[in-house]
Amino acid sequence: MPYDVIVVGAGPAGSSAAHAAARAGAQVLLVDRATFPRYKTCGGGLIGPTLAALPEEFQVPARAEIHRATLTLDGGRWADRRSDRRLLRLVDRASFDQALLRCAQDAGAQFRDGVTVTGVGQDDDLVTLQTSDGTMSARYVIGADGSASRVARHVGVTTDAVDLGLEVELEIGDQAHRWDGRVHLDWGADPGTYAWVFPKGDSLTVGVIQSRGHAAATRAYLAKFVAEMGLSGLREIHSSGHLTRCRSVGSPLSRGRVLVAGDAAGLLEPWTREGISYAVRSGRLAGESVASGGSGDTADAEVATVRSAYDAGIAGTLAREMAAGRIALRAFERSPALMHHIVARTGRGWREFARLTGGDATLADALEHRSVRWGLRAVGR
Ligand SMILES: Cc1cc2nc3c(=O)[nH]c(=O)nc-3n(C[C@H](O)[C@H](O)[C@H](O)COP(=O)(O)OP(=O)(O)OC[C@H]3O[C@@H](n4cnc5c(N)ncnc54)[C@H](O)[C@@H]3O)c2cc1C
Repeated sequence: MPYDVIVVGAGPAGSSAAHAAARAGAQVLLVDRATFPRYKTCGGGLIGPTLAALPEEFQVPARAEIHRATLTLDGGRWADRRSDRRLLRLVDRASFDQALLRCAQDAGAQFRDGVTVTGVGQDDDLVTLQTSDGTMSARYVIGADGSASRVARHVGVTTDAVDLGLEVELEIGDQAHRWDGRVHLDWGADPGTYAWVFPKGDSLTVGVIQSRGHAAATRAYLAKFVAEMGLSGLREIHSSGHLTRCRSVGSPLSRGRVLVAGDAAGLLEPWTREGISYAVRSGRLAGESVASGGSGDTADAEVATVRSAYDAGIAGTLAREMAAGRIALRAFERSPALMHHIVARTGRGWREFARLTGGDATLADALEHRSVRWGLRAVGR
């Protein structure tokens, strides 16, 4: 018997999709090529919109609660800012993803790890997946298999910004108190780059991001940043890199009975490259859309209603936020010094930054204000 839904990839997008579909009564199989729990290159920073979209019963396995940020511009112009409201919760991705997967299983989804999807085909009624464990079929498939997605190739997802993120995990030992409740963000010298230190109790995640094609410069930025932060010599627990990809405007979100979510769909904040909230929100929407089963007299009509429900959900939320993020990225690339000044030195800028990370407002909401929109566009020109 085919499943109602097979979800490919058990990151935050896949587990959120599986949870939503299973909760709505669908028979769901979730597969992942890795053996869980698995390591994931990621800062593990959860902003307000991520926390708001997680299942109600989910307990976040937080390693730190952040109310303070130190900010620098290419290692200089230090500023220390605090906020009454929480800016971020930090998680270790292996534990976070494992807990979210468990939540999807508790809602009724079946899970098989060590299963790699190698091919996708479909006819009017079913989707068939070729996998390392044989052929599997379902009425719908949700591709949540990350930024190098196999399913996205079938759907025809197109991307227009590819970045390389590099990270090291460092053992912090007796210096942990220096990072209590605080992150560090540095706006880099090369356009669009930035670096972060995210504390996780007894370890720190230190990372940088830059557009693809400058690997030597990206590595040099990470090494310089680690030294400037006084972290050279700490024991390296892990060192890794990963590509992020942002979808181009109008890139498809589905093809026939196959939908894509999270990084697989190129859904990612273009400025900060924050992707967990996009993964959780799009995964949930995709799961709800396919579980609704669609409506109409024919199979084609049913599929069309499922796809348009998903398209409309993304258009009204994440696509709108991505459009705002592109404007912010252009301004940040043109003038990191001005962006630093606004966030680090002005009360209004810092409050807006805290509202964005806390989830009280989105960048798209901020850009509704004509003065903010004109200001960012003028800087980005
Ligand atoms: C250096 C770096 C730091 C980041 N820091 C942050 C941050 O602090 N906060 C934030 O919000 N975002 C951050 N991001 C972005 C965030 O990591 C991603 O947006 C997020 O993980 C996307 O979730 P996902 O579920 O779509 O994909 P993933 O988490 O990548 O999950 C995809 C899953 O699919 C599986 N898979 C892949 N191919 C197949 C296949 N063929 N068959 C079966 N399974 C498959 C993989 O094993 C994996 O488990 C960062 C990204 C980078 C690169």
